[in-house]
Amino acid sequence: MSERPPRPARAEPREIVELKQLKAGNPELGDAVDLQVALVEVQRRVQSRVPLPRLQPDNAWLASQQDAGRPAVRFDDIPLDWSDFRLTLRQTDDILFRFRHIERADHEQVQGLTREGNALEPLVSNWYAATSGVEPPPAPDRLPPGVPESLDVLLLLSIRPFLARCAEALMPRPDFGRWHHGHCPVCGWEPDFAVVAPSGERRLICGRCAAQWNYGAHTCPFCTNDDRTLVTSFATRDGRYRVYGCDVCKRYLKAYDARGAARPVMVSVDSIATLPLDAAAQQRGYSG
Ligand SMILES: [Zn+2]
Ligand SMILES: [Zn+2]
Repeated sequence: MSERPPRPARAEPREIVELKQLKAGNPELGDAVDLQVALVEVQRRVQSRVPLPRLQPDNAWLASQQDAGRPAVRFDDIPLDWSDFRLTLRQTDDILFRFRHIERADHEQVQGLTREGNALEPLVSNWYAATSGVEPPPAPDRLPPGVPESLDVLLLLSIRPFLARCAEALMPRPDFGRWHHGHCPVCGWEPDFAVVAPSGERRLICGRCAAQWNYGAHTCPFCTNDDRTLVTSFATRDGRYRVYGCDVCKRYLKAYDARGAARPVMVSVDSIATLPLDAAAQQRGYSG
């Protein structure tokens, strides 16, 4: 028996290790990996402080929400600590600015917004109402006039650690097995990735809260087209990743094929590893 090497003082999370390996093998993905590592570090730090909420929705209410295709989490259900949220938003804004994904003027405006006591809270709750569809229509405006468009992606990234805890709390409930829509049963957002389970079933993964739910393997979640002749699917040469392009609405979805894979899906890693597939899908006329 050989001696084990000494463990590092603090082991890096698996997704960071995988991201760094990805960069080592694919130097052209270097900038995208560095940005993702910075975002994952902020989100992990916050999420470790967010308590698992005790969400116990009334059975009849949840059933009526699901029948109407509405998600389960209302804004007040989110375990949102405002000082943590402001910090997350500020740090995310810093990172996207540093990686030149947002303009300086927008960056500064968002920094200011995180310091104003009264403006941010109604803005975030309206944005959640508008983008979740949790309440019956009419929905409020997604963002008030005059705020930068990039605030949409900043809010998406900043609310994730809080909403992810809601998904963790709710998804083990058997009620969610009956959900058959293309959008998220927890927060109403769209899937931005999928996984083909070892059983062959396809699970969609929410782009906001990371909830996973079963969905027809050849149905488009964006327009419900289920004509197999109108869904173009292609895989990477190693068979690990797959793209489904819908020839009706022209949108596409990427997936990790977990059949025979060495590890489960890790969206933070797999979404970067598949950037070349985005280019291929867009070249064929599909949009994300
Ligand atoms: Zn969600
Ligand atoms: Zn479609």
